[in-house]
Amino acid sequence: MSGQITPVPQIAGNAQLLSELRQMKQKSHLPHALLLHGPEGCGKKLIAEWFAMLVLCEEHGAAPCGHCKSCRLVRSHAHPDVTAAEHSGKRGGFSVETVRQIRADAAILPNNGDMRIFMFCDADGMSVQAQNALLKSVEEPPAHACFVFTAQVPGVLLPTLLSRMTAKAVFPVTRSECIEALTRRGYPADDIQAAASRFDGNIGRCITYLEDSTVREATDRTAALTAALADQNEYELLRLLTAAAAEKEQLRKTLELLDIQIRDAALMTLNGDFSFMGCDRDSAQRLSVRLTPRRTSRLHGAIAGAFADLDGNVGAVLTVTALCAALLDA
Ligand SMILES: [Zn+2]
Repeated sequence: MSGQITPVPQIAGNAQLLSELRQMKQKSHLPHALLLHGPEGCGKKLIAEWFAMLVLCEEHGAAPCGHCKSCRLVRSHAHPDVTAAEHSGKRGGFSVETVRQIRADAAILPNNGDMRIFMFCDADGMSVQAQNALLKSVEEPPAHACFVFTAQVPGVLLPTLLSRMTAKAVFPVTRSECIEALTRRGYPADDIQAAASRFDGNIGRCITYLEDSTVREATDRTAALTAALADQNEYELLRLLTAAAAEKEQLRKTLELLDIQIRDAALMTLNGDFSFMGCDRDSAQRLSVRLTPRRTSRLHGAIAGAFADLDGNVGAVLTVTALCAALLDA
């Protein structure tokens, strides 16, 4: 279930960012290259879509109207002047051929309106070659071309490319804004509470949790695993890992999430400001109490070892048995 598609994307939080983009539009100072950066699931792609509507809206207002032909085409991902670069390769990058094609397309005048928009979503895996191939177009873009990138951190892009862009941070919203957004989408209240307690204000991750049963099972199990690890409870640790091992995909997802929980627990010990990417703050907090850098590194190493075992076709049960011992010894 994903609820109805509204005429304009409903974006939770991030009022400052939206207001800045609106002002740019009003002053006719829209950037030719925009980077939206922030953690996975915080709404970067939705804001990119809203921005494309803003740029192309036929009403030329300070916000997309949602009703003109252009807005409707962007919203239904069918606008002839909006091109989403296709990913290729294992790391979710873009091939040099794709970039060259987009460079050629950027030279062509728009079909409908004044601008053509080229989207590079999830650009975190974009190779140096692909970035270099795009550099010239971003440096000296045709007047009608606009490039929009989304990435988790700006540092994944080359400084030469980055220096030509307007970079804007997208932030996760508060837990109550998150609950409100999920309620608008029509999810049952109990499910919303469960999702929001796992991922705070990260709406995208909440939605994945609500819609993907593999993720949900792995998430709930990972929370219990983190608690068992914090308590050094061998029986519980082995029981949970063995249950996950019944299915390899489930086991991989669970280990991936557990690795992030350990990373977050380690960051908690530093008392710094960081965006929580795990799936259960309480158990991560408990784990953080007795976490030293050395133990953190060993815990990550134990999980890396389990992945290596799975890649080397070691049986799942054998893998988790060794992992359990390694986690307890770390
Ligand atoms: Zn419009």
